[in-house]
Amino acid sequence: MDRSKLYRRFRTLLIANRGEIACRVIRTARAMGLRTVAVYSEADRDAMHVALADEAVLLGPARARDSYLNVERLIEAARKTGAEAVHPGYGFLSENAEFAQACYESGLVFVGPTADMMNAMGSKSGSKALMEKAGVPLVPGYHGNAQDDATLAKAAEKVGFPILVKASAGGGGRGMRIVRSADELGPAIVSAKREAKAAFGDDRMLIEKYVDNPRHIEVQIIGDSQGNLLSLFERECTLQRRHQKVIEEAPSPTLNPAQRETVCAAARKAAGAVNYVGAGTIEFVSDGKDVFFIEMNTRLQVEHPVTELITGIDLVEWQLRVAFGEALPLKQGEIKLNGHAVEARVYAENPTKNFMPSVGRISTWRLPAETGGLRIDAGYREGDTVSPYYDAMLAKMIAWAPTRDVAIERLNRGLEESDVRGIVTNIPFLSALMTHPKVRTNAIDTGFIERELAVLTSASPAPGELELCAAVAAVINDERQRAQAAANSPWQTFGWQPVGRRQRSFAFRVGHGAEQKVTLNYGSGPSTLVIGERELAFAITPREGGFDLTLDGVKSSVAAVIDGHELYLRTRNGRFDLHWVDPFGGESEEQTGADKIAAPLPGTVVAVLAEEGATLEKGAPILTLEVMKMEQTLRAPYAGVLKSIKCKVGDIVQEGVELAVIEPSGE
Ligand code: ADP
Repeated sequence: MDRSKLYRRFRTLLIANRGEIACRVIRTARAMGLRTVAVYSEADRDAMHVALADEAVLLGPARARDSYLNVERLIEAARKTGAEAVHPGYGFLSENAEFAQACYESGLVFVGPTADMMNAMGSKSGSKALMEKAGVPLVPGYHGNAQDDATLAKAAEKVGFPILVKASAGGGGRGMRIVRSADELGPAIVSAKREAKAAFGDDRMLIEKYVDNPRHIEVQIIGDSQGNLLSLFERECTLQRRHQKVIEEAPSPTLNPAQRETVCAAARKAAGAVNYVGAGTIEFVSDGKDVFFIEMNTRLQVEHPVTELITGIDLVEWQLRVAFGEALPLKQGEIKLNGHAVEARVYAENPTKNFMPSVGRISTWRLPAETGGLRIDAGYREGDTVSPYYDAMLAKMIAWAPTRDVAIERLNRGLEESDVRGIVTNIPFLSALMTHPKVRTNAIDTGFIERELAVLTSASPAPGELELCAAVAAVINDERQRAQAAANSPWQTFGWQPVGRRQRSFAFRVGHGAEQKVTLNYGSGPSTLVIGERELAFAITPREGGFDLTLDGVKSSVAAVIDGHELYLRTRNGRFDLHWVDPFGGESEEQTGADKIAAPLPGTVVAVLAEEGATLEKGAPILTLEVMKMEQTLRAPYAGVLKSIKCKVGDIVQEGVELAVIEPSGE
């Protein structure tokens, strides 16, 4: 291979990927002055990565095989746009040696290692054999060529149960089975082989000792084409579900500085064994004390931002410089570890329904600003559609701080301040993870999420006094904002200082739970809320995304969104989903409570339903108002005779204005 053809300066980069990683790569490439070319499938015409790039090429139908995995069409897209280099991102073709080779043969720079390096490290068995020779510690096991039942059974017996049966070609946790006794072995091998054959077209198996209370620790490495190789510290990715990472952090809170140096040295040795060029990750499994090599990933990883945040290095920039043929800009001793970073993967999935992916249009996409140590790598925007064709990861939220505790705190706050609607996301689940005491104290292993699933996916907690008051405040705040927003609004002077003291009743519930009532007293004098026996002084100040709520002199910020009668609140106690029981929607037994039949809010009279002089039962409809595009029917507060109706259809009425008079009958 001609090295000057492999790595050389280029001006136009094609990104053979989609979603957040395509967006992430485009950002750095543009900052380096490169022209960027996106590729997309028919399902991704309006996707964010397409909008971000300078040019975009349609590859074909939604199915990955016809688009993002189609080598021919990708090479053709590069040719059409004059792209000179290809960044594969992660997933899709990023670890496909044939694709790297095809790029090379088409005269394109492949931003990554050569096909030979990928082939050497691509199979778990092959790489383990290599590592064994290089003296890198391995999990005890068998990674030979012979694959007959007797050989595998003998190897398992020798290693000692529990063991792990693993597909040599595996990835994403597929083709992997834990086997705890000899009689489980046969069936486990059969099913792992079947899965591996289907997923990778290769059913060779290896056998490993199953490390107890396993932790996942990996080292970021990067090599240039001039023989320099650096390690950029380690990440810990022990919080996994079905062997897939959910939360990642750097550095590992499990290792002490001596252990850190040991694992980083082992990683450099591993990558050095293949004279590795490009960014890569050496993965280890650890029992908390020692680390054992499991595999190498010859690409950028999803979780690379935590490394960037603790080293201050832009890994994509370094990948591109290496691809230019440049030497790495720093020496090993110049790479400093600063603080702690934690990343959470935000998925369109439903943790309470066995993590079923959720597809549809993102109606609301509100994530916090990237300030105060928070970074967000997103691949979606408001209005985008999550299609069923690809991985359901929407974004990554990453927090940095001087210490682990504060980084976790920042990440959790970021999660709690996020509001994504239209699809179901795992954000509450991620938040539950970040606040779990065992996560805080790092008392975890890779089985933690599965064991704690019930706790981590439990429903929204019951609202307390603060949340009920916040719910009323959210409704009022929303009504005020709408009234103010309405141009030429007939009730522009709508305010909260009408003459006299008045009441308004609210009821809320969580799921199918009992209704909880709150009464608002307002008008002249300070507003108060009454819950049961308690009366609390109450005030609200609107803020972006919510309001400040002052209750009995204590102010706290509340994030709130109202969607019809559904309220989503975040208070200092967490996230709450409440249903506002509509007093006019026949959901409630509630009566108006007042003697007067008055407009509860500014509105338009759309129907008069009773005649003057009529005798009415308690609850009989008198007239209908349209308020905030919703009809509300005013009913008789008690049985009586309707003395007069003081309005007609079409009238615009102010809040509190008396609309009808009823005289109570008998008693
Ligand atoms: P894949 O390539 O499918 O992701 P890996 O070999 O990287 O498979 O393993 C995935 C996860 O499984 C690891 O992160 C680790 O948590 C766990 N694991 C792998 N090997 C072992 C082992 N020998 N003992 C215990 N856990 C392991």
